[in-house]
Amino acid sequence: MRIERLNLGLNNAYYLEDEKTGEAVLVDCGLESQFDRIIKRLNEISVDVRRIQWLYITHAHTDHFGGAQRLKKEYGMKVASSRGAAASMETGSQGQTIPATFLGRVFNSFAKKGRCTPVMVDLIIEDGDELKAGLHAKATPGHTKDCMSFCAGEQCVVGDLIMPAFGTMPFYAISREAILESLIRLKDSGIKSLLPGHGREVSIEFAVEKIVRS
Ligand SMILES: [Zn+2]
Repeated sequence: MRIERLNLGLNNAYYLEDEKTGEAVLVDCGLESQFDRIIKRLNEISVDVRRIQWLYITHAHTDHFGGAQRLKKEYGMKVASSRGAAASMETGSQGQTIPATFLGRVFNSFAKKGRCTPVMVDLIIEDGDELKAGLHAKATPGHTKDCMSFCAGEQCVVGDLIMPAFGTMPFYAISREAILESLIRLKDSGIKSLLPGHGREVSIEFAVEKIVRS
């Protein structure tokens, strides 16, 4: 399994490829304004963007799905998300933002107004679904109620379930308990390492400890 973090600035997207089957997907795609940057990152790692069949979205915040419509239109990718996320994505609006930290309260007044080009979702993902490139979908509510994570072996792309770039506890969350519950569920399913939307890969033990102490 090839997993590449596409560093877009303060946020990440991920490229995942099962070398055995040749299936390639993206998880998240950054802001609409980062479209050129994600294409550049893919070119830098010698990925033929047209080979990427699916774009899986962790949650409906515009820094994760903003470029989806253009990737669909210009590169023919299909887009998939949870049912709740699809409702926001199809209207180009920001999903749930419940401030959970000081930064969350600071950002919330303008984050709520976040907009991008709407995108029609081709496939609704349910908890436990088996996806392309050998990924397993896991519902991980916490940052929003509709968040999905995409796991491969012992690694899992978790969107904003944790935010290592901002002290680990996500600045938007239903509650700390909801975050912890999803983390424990991932841990119990054998996940050892988390690939976040903001910041670098961390071990699940590190994430659990940071959330418990936050
Ligand atoms: Zn988010």
